[in-house]
Amino acid sequence: LSEELGQAQKMEAVGRLAGGIAHDYNNLLAIILNYTSLVIEELDEQSPVQKDLAEIKRAAQRAASLTRQLLTVSRRGLAQPVVLDLRDVVRGMDGALRAAVGGSIDLAIALGPSACRVLADAGQLEQVVMNLALNARDAMQGGGRLSIEARAVRVGAAGSLHDAHPAVPPGRYARLVVSDTGSGMCDDVRTRAFEPFFTTKPRGKGTGLGLATVYGIVKQWHGHIELASQPGQGTRVEIYLPLSARGASSRRARAAHQRRAAP
Ligand code: ADP
Repeated sequence: LSEELGQAQKMEAVGRLAGGIAHDYNNLLAIILNYTSLVIEELDEQSPVQKDLAEIKRAAQRAASLTRQLLTVSRRGLAQPVVLDLRDVVRGMDGALRAAVGGSIDLAIALGPSACRVLADAGQLEQVVMNLALNARDAMQGGGRLSIEARAVRVGAAGSLHDAHPAVPPGRYARLVVSDTGSGMCDDVRTRAFEPFFTTKPRGKGTGLGLATVYGIVKQWHGHIELASQPGQGTRVEIYLPLSARGASSRRARAAHQRRAAP
């Protein structure tokens, strides 16, 4: 099941990213197809290059059908924003995460005491957690500890986290931390880790789209992401998603309603 889940999530990640360029690609392929057809018509039927042109046309048609497929996948992956609690997302993934990381990794999930309501797409957040967990698993071939934590934090108030996180503007956030005790990254890898298609994994194992997808999703919901990693010391990814005002106000509304209803 976890294999299937991982595969589906990879496909979705690929689709989402590729969908963006597939549209432009399709237009370019249409130009190639049109001109190739024109040349085929204009050339003498007996011309020795007719066969080559037919090959070009067939390849362009195959490519066009591939981009059409990618467009379908990516459209299916369109975001549906709802107010959700990040802790529920992580809690709901417990079984899938354990299955995905396997028995040799000690998985610790910690959830904070207060609500972590954010405006986001649930499937996308699951993808974020799963991509980070799979990277952690891959970095801990000989076993290790994977910690996943979701909690509400305040950044910026006196004595807060702000000094340690200059890149995160002051505010209230749902924070997701995924950390591992794995191989870690050297400077070169760390600086390129979010690049689409950058991977250090063997062919067929890595797509280089995992962290790029995570980054895209976090930015889509106006969040921030920080990566700390040292070779031999493990990796820590912190994601800050703004707490939803809508969630807070509906909680206030509920509290006010309860006060009114109280005798
Ligand atoms: P992929 O996992 O397909 O390689 P990613 O974008 O998820 O693509 O990761 C890019 C690269 O960043 C990986 O190939 C790996 O070198 C490095 N990396 C990502 N996460 C970790 C981690 N938790 N520990 C060590 N290296 C990592």
